[in-house]
Amino acid sequence: MTETAPEIQTCPFCYTEMDARADVCPSCQATKDTTPEWAKRFDIYKTGVIAVIIGLGLMFIDGKGILWWGSPFVLIGGFFLFRAHKFDVSEVLWHRKE
Ligand SMILES: [Zn+2]
Repeated sequence: MTETAPEIQTCPFCYTEMDARADVCPSCQATKDTTPEWAKRFDIYKTGVIAVIIGLGLMFIDGKGILWWGSPFVLIGGFFLFRAHKFDVSEVLWHRKE
């Protein structure tokens, strides 16, 4: 049987050290965002898809041709979709209860 060193995390609000598996700070009750990484990445894709849809909607809204002021949305949305797999979603977020 091998002993592994206990993993420690530090509360970003009160700097209390606690077990890395803890989801709530024992000192200030800040809670860890336990959203899984795939869900965060999915949110990025979703943002991109929504932006592209809004952009395309704006571009074709009158049916008479392309309205180019929708194109920034398409570009931004396309950028999100293109870059989503490179976004760093490993950062752990904490929320402090008021
Ligand atoms: Zn804390």
